[in-house]
Amino acid sequence: MWSMFNLFYDLAGLLFPRLCNACGRPLLKAERIICLKCGYDLPYTDFHLFVDNPLARQFWGRVPIHGATALLYFNKGGKTQKMIHNLKYRQQTGTGLFLGRKMGKCLLYAEHYRDIDLIIPVPLHPRKMRARGYNQSQFLAEGIAEILGVQINNKTLIRKKATQSQTKKDRYTRFQNLQHTFNVVDKNAVLGKHILLVDDVVTTGATLESCAAELQKYGLKKLSIAAAAYVS
Ligand SMILES: [Zn+2]
Repeated sequence: MWSMFNLFYDLAGLLFPRLCNACGRPLLKAERIICLKCGYDLPYTDFHLFVDNPLARQFWGRVPIHGATALLYFNKGGKTQKMIHNLKYRQQTGTGLFLGRKMGKCLLYAEHYRDIDLIIPVPLHPRKMRARGYNQSQFLAEGIAEILGVQINNKTLIRKKATQSQTKKDRYTRFQNLQHTFNVVDKNAVLGKHILLVDDVVTTGATLESCAAELQKYGLKKLSIAAAAYVS
């Protein structure tokens, strides 16, 4: 019976090979999400080990952030970009959980993130959510939550207006455009808590800054940030 299963598994693998989410090569039977080679070769930032890191510095003098970290560097054409693309546009939500668990394992041993009470994924606008069918940051949050044993709240911080592509705008204009975009709808859910805000890719940090500015109005204990990728 087992050999029959193996035979079907191998045949299915020939017809529909599972591909590495970071390099696109077919995965071996024992490999999950990414191949072994890519697993050894991911561009980790190790930002969680340093309070003063390039991502944290983006928020200095703007919003008070307790800790800010990103798991991987994002380079054009690199493994991180491929994984994020698969997560956002190709329904590879398992990649989100995979990255989230890796983020969680980093946070677990980092002093600054020991007392997190609640995880909030950066929300998508409802229209975008309907078009995509899921919020990629939710899967990152679920991976982290699983490792840290902390609850996720995706109801309290909501996104009111859809923003146009901001890639050609400078940081100040981006922040201006994002003001009043996010809203906290239940202040009791965040009051007195150390919140971990989770996003997929950080470029200028304008989105996270706007979320943070809104959350900070409601008596949090601390606010920290974790992203899957950081564009340096
Ligand atoms: Zn690979």
